[in-house]
Amino acid sequence: MATVSLKQDPAVLSARLDRAAATAADANLDALLITPGSDLQYLLGVRGESFERLSTLVLPAAGSEAAPVLVLPKLEAPGYHDVPADDLGVEVVTWVDGEDPHALVADLLRRERQPSRVGVADVMPALHALPLQAAVGGEQALAGPVLRELRMRKDPSEVEALRTAGAAIDRVHARMAEFLTAGRTEAQVGADIAAAIVEEGHTEADFVIVGSAANGASPHHALSDRVIERGDVVVVDIGGPIPSGYNSDCTRTYAVGEPSQPDVRDTYAVLQAAQQAAVQAVRPGATAESIDAAAREPIAAAGFGREFIHRTGHGIGLDVHEEPYVVAGNRLELEPGMAFSIEPGIYQEGRWGARIEDIVIVTEDGVDSVNEQPHELVVLPA
Ligand code: ZN
Ligand code: ZN
Ligand code: ZN
Repeated sequence: MATVSLKQDPAVLSARLDRAAATAADANLDALLITPGSDLQYLLGVRGESFERLSTLVLPAAGSEAAPVLVLPKLEAPGYHDVPADDLGVEVVTWVDGEDPHALVADLLRRERQPSRVGVADVMPALHALPLQAAVGGEQALAGPVLRELRMRKDPSEVEALRTAGAAIDRVHARMAEFLTAGRTEAQVGADIAAAIVEEGHTEADFVIVGSAANGASPHHALSDRVIERGDVVVVDIGGPIPSGYNSDCTRTYAVGEPSQPDVRDTYAVLQAAQQAAVQAVRPGATAESIDAAAREPIAAAGFGREFIHRTGHGIGLDVHEEPYVVAGNRLELEPGMAFSIEPGIYQEGRWGARIEDIVIVTEDGVDSVNEQPHELVVLPA
């Protein structure tokens, strides 16, 4: 996988580093260790990739005099040339084979005093997390909760990126009649969709779900060699990253010719109403769980409560699934800039399934959807 990199305004990155350092201090952490992944991309503009050789950002919590340090294997350093290290006041320290990078990081962490609590990136490989724990000592915690506080609230440039990604995946759905016809396998349809995802502006197709007939009743079914038949209902859930690293994720449900199952139209209408009700419930101050309830209530009232077998949605940004999760028990109050999916589904096991998914963004006084394809059951020519 290519290293995703986007030259970003150093002022934006600098503010993020400061806020991460401050939030780490609030969380009683002495420092954060951020290995390659979406958190690193958020802070430095470069995603990087973890290997058996350690690459990590060592970010001291606010209150420390020490500068942040990007520790890299010397041979990986060129992949980070887009990091505006000088502008950010980030020191770059490289190491070569034969040196112990975990001891190097431990020494950096002890520049002022022995750290008592260090936050490690959620995605740090155990290959590095365990040796670091042994070398650093003290307590280790996940850095995820710190980064989540920042990443959950998208700034205007991130919102714009999500809109660009949403428009790109909308264009793929708008072309569905080109790909999805009776007589083709899900895998053939999926291969064409994957190519279209790239043609319409993504760097890759991250996931392609084509769930026809009974396969549509399995929410994370991907692709199979099942041949699509006239009258099938087909769940198409697709997405991927655009060059800035922000992701699309959009589901529409199609019928290939008039649906052959007699209950499809009425059941789909329940789902469509539920999805719309949940979107309309989104506004600042509403809790994440209240949005889940808004989707669930009409589905349960129609007798399909047991057929809606997953949470209503997930946050999205540099990761396809991130905070905030739209799920029962999440009392988080929504704020402007939060972005997440609204994707209820009704799954008739062994028969057919349907899901409708939009990515929405909380605005100052309500909600905006980045996806604008029609929500009705789309009947394609068979
Ligand atoms: Zn999913
Ligand atoms: Zn999806
Ligand atoms: Zn989704």
